[in-house]
Amino acid sequence: MKFGFDVDDTLINLREYAFHYYKKQLGQEVEIDVFHSLDRVEIHEAFGMTDKEGKEMWNQSLDYIYYTDCPAYPGAVEVLQQLDAEGHEIYYITARPATHGEDTKAWLKKQGFPLRDDHFHCGMKDDEKVQVIESLGLDYYFDDKPEVLQTLVHDGLNVFVKDQSYNRHLDLPRFHDWAQLHELIKKEIE
Ligand SMILES: [Mg+2]
Repeated sequence: MKFGFDVDDTLINLREYAFHYYKKQLGQEVEIDVFHSLDRVEIHEAFGMTDKEGKEMWNQSLDYIYYTDCPAYPGAVEVLQQLDAEGHEIYYITARPATHGEDTKAWLKKQGFPLRDDHFHCGMKDDEKVQVIESLGLDYYFDDKPEVLQTLVHDGLNVFVKDQSYNRHLDLPRFHDWAQLHELIKKEIE
């Protein structure tokens, strides 16, 4: 089977990692509840920033957020390693800028994710992911972002949503953690 994964906030806990970084950088004490009730992917509203300020802060912070020690979700590395060991094909499809492609691949490998260089795709816009995913002929795809997921529901592709505060309105198969997802996958491919 061919499995495709989004990276940020599907495999790794990037927004929450960035949230804690922003708190430190900005010297603002913001409760984690505020983070958990955000209804969009962007986090800057929790710090009273405008979209423009938020975009600047995010771009300035990218190197830190992407390449230091953002944690993978518990079990994510192990589930992908097991799928790989069972002979399934693993693809990564991320909207991270193309200029971050090589460094992102290296970082993911360092975290233990099984990654073949030709199974990694980056730099597309949200509404362009669907073309990549269709051209790869994936059987399963996992993502968190409503703008992406809404373009993907078609015959033959099984889409799963990583539960996040901003995607609860989507009526799609949903997983909250990677242990739960592993059980779902095992049932599906049996
Ligand atoms: Mg994502």
